[in-house]
Amino acid sequence: MRQINQVDLAPTVAKILGVKIPGMDGAPIEEVESWGCSKAIVLIVDSLGYDLYKFFQADLKNMASLASGGLLVRAKAAAIHTSPAIASILSGLLPEHHGIHNTEGAKASTLSSIPEIASFQGFKTAVIMEKGGAEVYEGLIDFVGKVSRDLDPREFDRETCRKSLEALAGRPELMISYFIGIDKAVHLGGGLEEMRSAAVCVDLCLGRIYAAAEVGTFFSVIGDHPVHAGSFKRQGGPCCVALVLGRK
Ligand SMILES: [Zn+2]
Repeated sequence: MRQINQVDLAPTVAKILGVKIPGMDGAPIEEVESWGCSKAIVLIVDSLGYDLYKFFQADLKNMASLASGGLLVRAKAAAIHTSPAIASILSGLLPEHHGIHNTEGAKASTLSSIPEIASFQGFKTAVIMEKGGAEVYEGLIDFVGKVSRDLDPREFDRETCRKSLEALAGRPELMISYFIGIDKAVHLGGGLEEMRSAAVCVDLCLGRIYAAAEVGTFFSVIGDHPVHAGSFKRQGGPCCVALVLGRK
């Protein structure tokens, strides 16, 4: 398998759905093309670096089960911070081409990403993320789930999960959900146990979302960047995140 980069996920999802997006830096991941999926779910997990995933793998039963029927990929991160990395995941463009380097840049940007392009091309689309990020999609897609940043890490992720299940009831063809718990736990000074507990919480959310998804759905769980502090902090490259691919 070739070295996969975060920017390869958007073209992969676009190909599965049949959405046309010209000019992306990434290329579709060929291995998933025979899976026969027609819908897609992308779960972005803040700070799910590859090393962190491997360390907690035994506790992350739903991710492991998804990977066992699919693929676990050590994907190269396009950026080391949240806003540019998420922009790369959703646009298929490298930071030098999408030009988003921080939260303000993300809000001001006119960049079109896969949710709005898919929606414009007639695909039913849902995005669930923190309020500021979600508001960008208001009026452009079918379901916008806004989650308050003020919630504590685990409550934030549970709320993301609740809103994702609500979105799934409307049978979207594309759903993007963003989980922040691991990153928040680390930034609040948490150690291994807090990270494990946050990762397990996300894994349980994945299990509930998987159970509610329709057969023929492509699943992807992707980290935005390796963790910023603690024992899994990367000192220099390569910066790799976990990318778990599977299907229902
Ligand atoms: Zn992040």
